[in-house]
Amino acid sequence: MFGGFPFHEFMSGHQTHGGSDSPNEVENDRFYELLGVDKTISCAEIKKKYRVLAKTKHPDKGGDPKLFAELTHAAEILSDPDKRKVYDKYGENGINQGRSAHDHEPQDLFDLLSGRAQRGRPQGERKSPDTTHKLSVTLSELYHGVTKNLSINRNRVCIECKGQGGSKVNICSECKGRGNVTKLIQLGPGMYTQSSGPCDECRGMGKSIDPRYKCKKCKGARVFTEKKIIEVLVDKGCPNHHKYVFYGESDEEPEMRPGDFIVIIIEEEHPVFKRKNADLAMEYTISLKEALTGYKIKIDHLDGVKIVEGAIGDIVKPGDIRTIEELGMPLMKTPYKFGNLFIHLDVEFPLPQSLPASTVEGLITALPGDESMAPSDGALKTIPYDKAHITENSTAIHSDYKEDDEEDPRLAGGARRVQCSGTIF
Ligand SMILES: [Zn+2]
Ligand SMILES: [Zn+2]
Repeated sequence: MFGGFPFHEFMSGHQTHGGSDSPNEVENDRFYELLGVDKTISCAEIKKKYRVLAKTKHPDKGGDPKLFAELTHAAEILSDPDKRKVYDKYGENGINQGRSAHDHEPQDLFDLLSGRAQRGRPQGERKSPDTTHKLSVTLSELYHGVTKNLSINRNRVCIECKGQGGSKVNICSECKGRGNVTKLIQLGPGMYTQSSGPCDECRGMGKSIDPRYKCKKCKGARVFTEKKIIEVLVDKGCPNHHKYVFYGESDEEPEMRPGDFIVIIIEEEHPVFKRKNADLAMEYTISLKEALTGYKIKIDHLDGVKIVEGAIGDIVKPGDIRTIEELGMPLMKTPYKFGNLFIHLDVEFPLPQSLPASTVEGLITALPGDESMAPSDGALKTIPYDKAHITENSTAIHSDYKEDDEEDPRLAGGARRVQCSGTIF
């Protein structure tokens, strides 16, 4: 248990990458030059080129982080048809101004590598509901990054009838094309109430399909179910509850912009490590000897076995925390940087009566302190505490209260026991 480990005190703020590029005079060659591509290249080819460049220019591969951030930005703009148009026309100035106007910020630096880049989408249309999916991922997978394939069933607008449901579509006779009907609902004998709701006949569409001309593919449903594999590229250092948005991958409905398919990352509990942002924490118990003379800890780390040592001269008290820099999680936006690892140390003391007299004598001379405090015969001696040592108050009338106590669920069982062992009274 991490009881009371003040994790928050040791946590620094989450770092974000500062990829702000200063507006230049209007010129629109630099991004193409950075990526080493011709201006006629297709948006899809830009992504491919970026993947190739990432293999050598990524900071993990020894590339310059600043240059790589620029490459990523250039690829992000040029692989998006809408943003590319703005760049070609107005250069970086246009991008910097336009970006805040209607585009959202990329989810992270690696959206492009995973094909998650924002698609241009029309504004102001009605949108079908978003779909969310929780994806459980281990801490190790979050450390290394992982690709997960999700098989989803989603509705697509029927291509055969273009979402009409058939080749002959009439105005619904039930609702006269309004899509809504007013119904009288009987509440009881002689009691009615009016309610307005979607027409059952046309399912609120206002149109009905002549059964003889019903679409063969969708059987008049206007949509059909399609199986699709969604590839989720979970980034190194991806935080718990991070959302990966797949634009337009939710169910399609006729005359509506499709909603988004949203994958929410759920971090599984790890047997050793607790995680907070990019930092990790673990508990470890060392012996009293190690606490005084030095300790070595073998950590079964997410990145393989690590041996860490206490600093020379370090003395550990039970509950002390030691930090090992950069042994935490990678930072999602800059995965070549790492958070820290905190080790919450407990010290196991020798059992009572387990030290031979010679050892005790050795300790008396070895350890600092007043030697006159050494045990002597005839003095009052302490004994290990037991609950039975508590003296009952003989003057209080407590038999009635005792019964009440036992009936009160707030005082029953565990809570009371914890109170006794923790604070004595
Ligand atoms: Zn109708
Ligand atoms: Zn159809």
